[in-house]
Amino acid sequence: MNMKCFGEFPVEEILPLIGFNNEPKKFQTEHGVYCAGVSSNRLLCFKRSIFCVSCGVAGTHFHLEQQVRKSKSNHPHIAHINLYHVKDDKKILMTKDHIIPVSYGGTGDVENLQTMCEPCNNKKGNTPDIYSVRCNDELVYVKAFSKQHALSIIANGYFTDQVIQVSIDDIQLITFIN
Ligand SMILES: [Zn+2]
Repeated sequence: MNMKCFGEFPVEEILPLIGFNNEPKKFQTEHGVYCAGVSSNRLLCFKRSIFCVSCGVAGTHFHLEQQVRKSKSNHPHIAHINLYHVKDDKKILMTKDHIIPVSYGGTGDVENLQTMCEPCNNKKGNTPDIYSVRCNDELVYVKAFSKQHALSIIANGYFTDQVIQVSIDDIQLITFIN
C-alpha cells in the first residue's frame, strides 16, 4: 500500500493518547495540522502490546499518514496513525492479527486481537495448528491458532471435536506447551 507520511512520532508520545472512546487528536506537522482517530481496536491492541507475538519485533514509531489513492481523493486534513518498527532505512508495518480468524468466527473485539508484524501476519495461514497441552496430568491435543488460543480452549472446558487423536506421523506438526 502506498502511503504518504506527514510526520513520525515515537511510541511513547502516542500510546498515552490512545483510549477507548477518546476523541480524535490533532497533530501539528510541518505539512500542516492533521486529525487522526485514536480509539480504534487496532490502536487499543497496540496500546496493550507493541511487540509482534510471533517474532518479538517491537513497534518503535507511529507514522501519521494517508493512503495514496488514484480514484478517490482523501480528506485534506484527516490522516491515520500506523505503527512501524523503524530501524536504519527499513520499516516494518505492525498489524492487528485476529487470534481466531474471522473466517472461524473470531470477532474484531480487542480480546481477539494481537499485535503482529506484517511479514509474520502474511506467513500465518488460516489453518489451525496442533497444540499439545498438559491437562490433569494428561497430554491433550487440540487444534488452535496460537498458544494462547490452545490454552484458552483448555481453560474454558474444551469440546470433544477440538480434541484430536494424533499419530506418530503428526509429531512434527505438534507444538508442545510445557
Ligand atoms: Zn513478526
